[in-house]
Amino acid sequence: MEVITYCLMVPGTINKIITGESMIRVTVWNEYEHERTIPAIQKVYPEGIHGALKKILQTESDMTVTCTTLDEPEQGLSEELLQNTDVLIWWSHARQDDLTDETVERVVRHVHSGMGFIALHSAHYSRVFRRLMGTPCTLGWKHGDSEKLYCVAPSHPIAEGVPGCIELPEEELYAEPFSIPKPDEVVFIGWFAGGAVFRSGCTFTRGYGKIFYFQPGHEECRVYDIPGISRILINAVRWATPHTRLERPEDNVEW
Ligand code: ZN
Repeated sequence: MEVITYCLMVPGTINKIITGESMIRVTVWNEYEHERTIPAIQKVYPEGIHGALKKILQTESDMTVTCTTLDEPEQGLSEELLQNTDVLIWWSHARQDDLTDETVERVVRHVHSGMGFIALHSAHYSRVFRRLMGTPCTLGWKHGDSEKLYCVAPSHPIAEGVPGCIELPEEELYAEPFSIPKPDEVVFIGWFAGGAVFRSGCTFTRGYGKIFYFQPGHEECRVYDIPGISRILINAVRWATPHTRLERPEDNVEW
């Protein structure tokens, strides 16, 4: 990434803008709790969910991947790391409330400045995602189901090369109503054998930041390696990569 400075065409403001260069810097953040404390889940993801995601993304020649976890200093989300992150991927579930206000505000500030943010599965209820959405982000759920993931926006960049329907033999049921604001676009809809439907892939913009929520990824059943799912993750990273990154969120401007 290269830092350039130019004058925005707005009276009275000069902002430092960061524009994308060749490599996309991806940070995978995982609370990393179930895979350490529950043997059955350790078997599913011996390398941690973050490790599994890293394996998938690091095969892409235009991506460098860093993993961090909740118990690291500064909750794994230092200012320096976020400044050097183009897209942040987030998985959390059991310890949502352990995230401090300070960490939440730091991540949100970077999203507003242009950092991409991908919230996976139970990250629908993470403090960061709820803060970005401004709604309860609640849903219905039931363990032990299967899913057919339908692409409903095949021309969207996140759907490029993705089958029209991906079958997930095991996945946790998530059900509408999903209490989110109206998405910019719904790219995927999940149908569950238990009868529920769910907006499983939704895009949003907040400030300069592009956000993708993606439902699959329950910790008891390994799905991220399924080729169509991996393709969606890789596409989502490229889609969420900022072409413009502010040094800080925009402020009011006197004309
Ligand atoms: Zn789950």
